[in-house]
Parts: sequence; structure tokens; C-alpha cells
Amino acid sequence: MEDHDRVLIAGGGPVGYTAAYLLARSGIPFTLLEAGHKIFDDPRAGTIHPPTLELFASIGVTPRMIERGYVVPNYHYRDRRAGLIANFDLGVLAEDTPFPFRLMLEQHKICAILRDLVLAEYPQNPVLLDHRVASVTQDENGVVAAIETPSGPMSVRGRYIIGCDGGRSQVRKSMSVDFEGFTYDERFLILSTKYDFAPHGFAQTNYIADPEQWCALFKVPGHDETGTWRVVFPMDSNTPESEIFAEAHVQGLIQRFQAKSAPYDIVHRNIYQVHQRVASCYRDGRILIAGDAAHINNPLGGMGMNFGFHDVFNLVEKLGRIWHRGASEDLLDLYDRQRRTVAQEYLQRQTIENKKNMENKDTAAQERFYDELRGIVADRAKQRAYLRRVAMIDGFDRAASIT
Ligand SMILES: Cc1cc2nc3c(=O)[nH]c(=O)nc-3n(C[C@H](O)[C@H](O)[C@H](O)COP(=O)(O)OP(=O)(O)OC[C@H]3O[C@@H](n4cnc5c(N)ncnc54)[C@H](O)[C@@H]3O)c2cc1C
Repeated sequence: MEDHDRVLIAGGGPVGYTAAYLLARSGIPFTLLEAGHKIFDDPRAGTIHPPTLELFASIGVTPRMIERGYVVPNYHYRDRRAGLIANFDLGVLAEDTPFPFRLMLEQHKICAILRDLVLAEYPQNPVLLDHRVASVTQDENGVVAAIETPSGPMSVRGRYIIGCDGGRSQVRKSMSVDFEGFTYDERFLILSTKYDFAPHGFAQTNYIADPEQWCALFKVPGHDETGTWRVVFPMDSNTPESEIFAEAHVQGLIQRFQAKSAPYDIVHRNIYQVHQRVASCYRDGRILIAGDAAHINNPLGGMGMNFGFHDVFNLVEKLGRIWHRGASEDLLDLYDRQRRTVAQEYLQRQTIENKKNMENKDTAAQERFYDELRGIVADRAKQRAYLRRVAMIDGFDRAASIT
């Protein structure tokens, strides 16, 4: 085997490191090229859904995740003024999955678990930090990635490349594809605090609707593993970050949400632009994309990273058949069809709907929606059907049904 007979992975985020571990386990050599010099620990994904836990269980990783995360058996849908609307019990999924819960574990810790496994078990595969993929070209035998490094430009050859390089993917920009969709006007502000909201009756995960200012509240293990709450608010795009992050402003926001006598101890404040986009194709010859490089969405429902994991489990299984058993590369088109279809049908549809429901200004429509949720949690069969969809089980099964 030539040294360049390998799969290149652009991006060492959660999806890139998962691709790396899966490739190595399948006996396919890889080189991972990461632009940064470390795993970034800004507060992004924290929710892992049942099908993802099943996939990672198949490669022995789920126990490591459960050991470090919080098992969350239920979550609340609330109205900011009226309080609890519906308490969803993920236990009703017991006949659908061995993991009938959400796991709360921050994405940088998931990345670190996978990176450590890759480095410990498959050290012969290069993981190159400070290597930014600038562009990719291809011919009938392989791909060439042009790389920027601190010591100057270089190029790396491989048989295929998987772009796991996030929403601004350079790999995607090297393909003949569009990134169709839209960007929301408002951004999402995340405040992290050690203050414990549980005594106020909140679950560990809460979606809190309001026509003026919805809110989402989650508990994650946090840097010191003793528990940190993340509070998410929408923010208009025109306000400068200096004003948004000002102490008086953030204290005002969080105190209006849940008043307390002393100021909140706010340990982090972050703001994110939010988009809904899906690439028009996940494959261009030997160039493939997965994760945020292929689809981005608002984080309400906690689905984007999970979907990216599902992408690479699907893709690497197919690459294994091509690599070792000479299967047709048409399988890569099947990867595109399966994963892109469900990104449109489930990921985009569900997350757009989640946001609309949280901010609905039509009181009568909102009351109808709340009644629907109350009806769902009052009926086990309805709750199971609903949770199969929002816990990503239906989307996963739908992808598998596409031929
Ligand atoms: C506030 C917030 C909350 C979220 N919550 C959830 C949640 O609870 N559950 C969920 O499933 N999802 C959630 N998401 C979405 C989740 O964060 C993303 O879907 C996830 O990060 C995608 O992983 P990725 O590996 O595809 O991309 P990224 O995490 O963006 O990683 C891309 C990697 O590629 C590197 N890179 C970039 N460009 C290049 C290049 N040219 N060359 C080489 N390397 C490059 C980057 O440095 C980075 O390490 C949330 C997102 C936000 C913003």
C-alpha cells in the first residue's frame, strides 16, 4: 500500500474524531488534519440522543460517555409565565432503545474521549494539529488537500477526503455544491452559571416558550464536573457584543427569568449566529462531507452533532465495504441520499418547528399547541410516537429505509 492510500479527514471536531476512530477500527488508514491547535471547549452541544448512544455502544464508547455525563430521564416544556406545560418521560422509549434517556455531556469532552482512543489504540495514523485544509482537488485515483501550516504550505494525498470541518467547511467549498437555506436574524446568547435551578422545580433540560423572549435551560457536568447550568436567550443581531455581554445586561436577563437576591455567578457568556442549511449533495467524486460541513441548524432540540455522528457511522460502514471488499462507489451516492434526505425531512423540519413553537406570538395558536403537548404526555402511545421523532429514532430508521 502506498503511503497516500488513505482517507483524509479535515477537521478534528466531534464528527472528525468519530470518523477517525471508525476508520481505524475498520482497518482503513487515515490522516486527520485539524486547523486549530487543541480541542475547543466553547459551550456548544451537550445533548446526546438514544440512537447515538446505541451507535457508540456498538464500538464500546457509550460506557465512557455515561461515566462522565448526566443521564436525563425526562425534560420539561414550559411557558415562561404559566410554568410547566408538559413533562416528557423518555422512559416510554424503553421498547425502542436500550438507552431511553438523554445524556448530557459537553461536546469537547466527547471529542477528547474519541481523540484519546484514536491516539492510544491507533497511533500509526497521523493526527496533525495546526494543519488547515485550504482547498481540495481530485483526479481519478485520489484527492490532494492543500494545507496551511505554521511552517508553510504543503499538500497531502489520499484516496478520499471526508470534510468534517464545520459550517464554514473549506472541503465543501471545494466541491460543486450549494449550501442552501437561511440565517436567522437573531443570535443565541448562552450564559453559564453554577447556580442550581433544580429547587425552583426545573428539570435538567427545559424548553421555555415566550412570545417576547423564549429561553432554554440545561444542566451539564461543567468544567469542574460538579454541575453547570446553561441558559439560552435569543438576542437581536444589531446589538453590539460589548452591550450584550455587559454585566448589568446579563444579570438583568437572567434575573428576569429567575429572580434571586444575590447576583448570579456567570462563569461563561457566548453568542452564536444560527443558520438552517443543507448542502445540495454530500458527495463530489472522492470528496465527501459530514456533520456541520453538510448541514447546520439551530440548536433547539440538540440534534446537529448527533446527526453528524449518524452521518459518519453510515459513511464509514460504506467506505469499509468499498475499501476491503471492492464494493461499488455507488454506495457513496447512497450515503448522500440517505443522510441528506433525513437532514431535510427531520433535522431541518424539526429544529425550525422547535424554534417557531418557542416564540409563537399568536396566543390562541400557542394555547392549542400547549393542549396538544398536554394530550401527548397524557397518552403513553402518543408520547412514545412523539418522542421517537424528537429523540431522533424515526429519522435514523428512515435513513436506513432509503435504498
Ligand atoms: C449553542 C449550541 C448548542 C448546541 N447544542 C447541541 C446539542 O445539544 N446537541 C447536538 O447534537 N448539537 C448541538 N449543537 C450543534 C453542534 O455543536 C454541532 O453540530 C457540532 O459541533 C458539529 O460537529 P462537527 O465536528 O461537524 O463540526 P465542528 O464542531 O465545527 O468541528 C469542526 C472542526 O474542524 C476544524 N476546521 C475548521 N475548518 C478547518 C479547515 N479548513 N481545515 C482543517 N480543520 C478545520 C475546526 O477547528 C473544528 O475543530 C449546538 C450548537 C451550538 C452553537
